[in-house]
Amino acid sequence: MPGHPQGKPADERCTNLTDDQRCRLWGHVERPAFCAGLQPSDEMCGQDEAHAIAWLSALEQATRP
Ligand code: SF4
Repeated sequence: MPGHPQGKPADERCTNLTDDQRCRLWGHVERPAFCAGLQPSDEMCGQDEAHAIAWLSALEQATRP
């Protein structure tokens, strides 16, 4: 993964995430397929950013090696 040659550790901000919360790899072939495969949903996004961050943090914890 660009910016994370050993993989992105859980709970660590992706180096490809810009200050305004955008993916700098969007639209580029370097963007990992697993990023493109994670599609937004009501369950994940909820009503606010706090819900989404909590949901994604739980997902990272559940899938860490
Ligand atoms: S979509 Fe993937 S590469 Fe882009 S900021 Fe999010 S985790 Fe990083």
